[in-house]
Amino acid sequence: MATKDYYNILGVNKEASFDAIKKAYRSLAKKYHPDKNPNDKFAEERFKDIQEAYSILSDSNKRANYDRMVEAEKQGYFFDDMDSFFSGFNTHRENAQVKFDDFGGFGDLFSRIFDKTDRSRSKTRPKRGADINYELAIPFEKAILGWETVISITRDEECPTCQGSGARLGTNVQKCPDCGGRGKIKFTQGNFSVNQTCPKCYGRGIIIPVPCTTCNGVGHFQQVRRIPINIPPGIENGMRIRVPGQGESGVSGGPNGDLYIIAKVMEHKFLKRQGDDITCEITIDFIQAIMGVTVVVSTVDGKVRLNVPAGTQPGTILRLKGKGIKKANGDGNGDQLIKVNVSLPKNITEKQKELLKKFREE
Ligand SMILES: [Zn+2]
Ligand SMILES: [Zn+2]
Repeated sequence: MATKDYYNILGVNKEASFDAIKKAYRSLAKKYHPDKNPNDKFAEERFKDIQEAYSILSDSNKRANYDRMVEAEKQGYFFDDMDSFFSGFNTHRENAQVKFDDFGGFGDLFSRIFDKTDRSRSKTRPKRGADINYELAIPFEKAILGWETVISITRDEECPTCQGSGARLGTNVQKCPDCGGRGKIKFTQGNFSVNQTCPKCYGRGIIIPVPCTTCNGVGHFQQVRRIPINIPPGIENGMRIRVPGQGESGVSGGPNGDLYIIAKVMEHKFLKRQGDDITCEITIDFIQAIMGVTVVVSTVDGKVRLNVPAGTQPGTILRLKGKGIKKANGDGNGDQLIKVNVSLPKNITEKQKELLKKFREE
């Protein structure tokens, strides 16, 4: 039991009167006083314990609460079954909190009983595994057309051999004897009391006498998993896809977390997205614009030939039907829109100048 036995420290029984406690304290304090025992570590510790014990047992309020706490510990209320502790205490809980609040140094012991974070750490309480967020870089074309791919994730999984207990098959996990399963130990230095993580069980509240050989007693480990992912056509940058149950393992029978794929759509050097359409630009020279030309244009599913008709004006937008994004309402696909730029020569020769003059006169 982690809580100090103050009666034992003062060598009195639990029914001892105030006078008997005072008497015991005086004689022990004299015996172990540091002035009488210089450089004696043991005496120093004893002296501190004696003072602490007296400070609690000489105050009727503190003594009553201490007694109650020890009683609760004896009945296992602190450790294994928080819920029954609560149901047993519920009717008195309001009173109890008021009383414990003005209890100074002992308040923390009681607040710990009511502390929700400690309850959630209880080994027997099923806990859902954490979600995993995975940023997936998606090539532009795949984002438009849809993509079946496989990703590798590293996630925390429950050990299948011991099913998370950490104990070798046929053996059991035991409550930590040092901290009584609480994971914390109360240390007292002078008038100060602090809760420290139990050094025996590292705060887990349990010890594993014979560790599972698969997980070395940890109960879970990091696993690399390959997970097939189906990217729907038309996914946009930043969209999230939920893959249920593929996150971290749940604890104590709790459900697994989910895997979230966050789409990072890569840019295309030529194509851009605009709603359900895809846009791009081409540049032809002025003679091609005047006389018409056939050019090769990239689309999300390969290159196609595009006729630029004679007399196309700069800035004209040509349309490739159905080469855009599959519409969400199932109403076919968007288009690819091609903006036609026309380049004009900056320098021309004398001969070209003559020809252009003739062209104008024509
Ligand atoms: Zn294991
Ligand atoms: Zn412990």
